[in-house]
Amino acid sequence: MKLFAERILLSSGWHTEQTLTIEDGVITSIDSGYINDAEKVGVVIPGMVNCHSHAFQRAFAGFSEQGSEGKDSFWTWRSIMYKFIDQLTVKDAQIIATQLYIEMLKMGYTRVAEFHYLHHEINGDNHTELAEMAKAIFKASQQSGIGLTLLPVLYRFSGFGPLPANDGQKRFINSVEQFNQLVSDCFTLSSEYENTNVGIAPHSLRAVDKPSLEQAVKHVRSLDNKAPVHIHIAEQQKEVDDCLAHYGQRPVEWLLNNAQLDEQWCLIHATHINEQERQGIVASKAIAGICPTTEANLGDGIFPTTEFLAEKGTIAIGSDSHISVNPVEELRWLEYAQRLIKQQRAILASENEASVGRNLWQQAALGGAQSTNSNTGELAIGKQADLLVLDTKKVALFAHDDQHLLDSMIFASQQNMVNDVMVNGHWVIKAGAHSLEKKAEQAFSLLLASLSA
Ligand SMILES: [Zn+2]
Repeated sequence: MKLFAERILLSSGWHTEQTLTIEDGVITSIDSGYINDAEKVGVVIPGMVNCHSHAFQRAFAGFSEQGSEGKDSFWTWRSIMYKFIDQLTVKDAQIIATQLYIEMLKMGYTRVAEFHYLHHEINGDNHTELAEMAKAIFKASQQSGIGLTLLPVLYRFSGFGPLPANDGQKRFINSVEQFNQLVSDCFTLSSEYENTNVGIAPHSLRAVDKPSLEQAVKHVRSLDNKAPVHIHIAEQQKEVDDCLAHYGQRPVEWLLNNAQLDEQWCLIHATHINEQERQGIVASKAIAGICPTTEANLGDGIFPTTEFLAEKGTIAIGSDSHISVNPVEELRWLEYAQRLIKQQRAILASENEASVGRNLWQQAALGGAQSTNSNTGELAIGKQADLLVLDTKKVALFAHDDQHLLDSMIFASQQNMVNDVMVNGHWVIKAGAHSLEKKAEQAFSLLLASLSA
């Protein structure tokens, strides 16, 4: 197919009147001017990659905002979440993920890394098919049309020690042998589903020990030597304190000393880090996966984004608990958190890019692509056609030129600017709508009414 864009953000910058030729989901040529039969669209930008999602948490978002005399924290939130998931079936998980992935597409996420840890039956027994829950996630990605990087989670312990898993964690737990089998099964499933791939996610240093971490990484890298490895790392100060008490090292410090980090590692919530750890992440080429709205919602803390980007670190963004499903809001809060701390403005620009909005959109999309080992994140010849068409009427209202377009979208837009979304060469959102959204919404709302929070 051919697509003619009035304006388009290519990896080489903004251009006008370009025709993209797309074959088998990939951009094979980009030519100036209109070529016959090309479909005409307005303003085109690359789709965003969501580097961190726990799909089932979408059904629980908003159910934990009742205060109890200042005693609420990440840890009390987690207890409510454990209680909530004690009722979810495979069918429920698929309904929630389908609804969520349609919402993501409508807001401009074209690929998601699913940090998938709800593996077993409600009572903790294995499903007949070990990867049954994973299959529900694959199916949701196919129904919605979003690109998927499935990251089965290795979860072994409840805390450093190692402490045995507690009852709320029974659906997450696997031996390393069983986990590696699950990962192999997910690779087989992925080969049957379009635009999907597989990595792993050792849950956190709380939940895995060194031997199990090593065995899991070795196994997945034997299946794909570029497989992504994501880990929750230093989300809470308590986690840092517990790690120090057990290992005598801070979480990121321990990881830098004990795992061979590379560009396929993505450190989720590397929130509490010192200068050496920050520089260590940059030197390792690992990605910092930041989830600004979830980190704010859970009272985690603030990642040192200013310093990390100044040192040429790679970032990606994630919607994590889905308290917000909107890349614009993630990037807005990424910048605003820095402004509030530093009492300055327009901080996350770069030497080459004065526009904060454009700099953040492009860096997060590229970092997200790296974190999912996917051929996405920018529009250029040879890249997958994952793109957004913005609403030209709204663009005209908010930004009259290229230089201000993404700034206006991220900081001054009160509405969703995304009109159409293409993933892997297929239109999945047209005029703001998805073909399955009514059906998905109905199933989701019925499910929500039947669940108790
Ligand atoms: Zn998470």
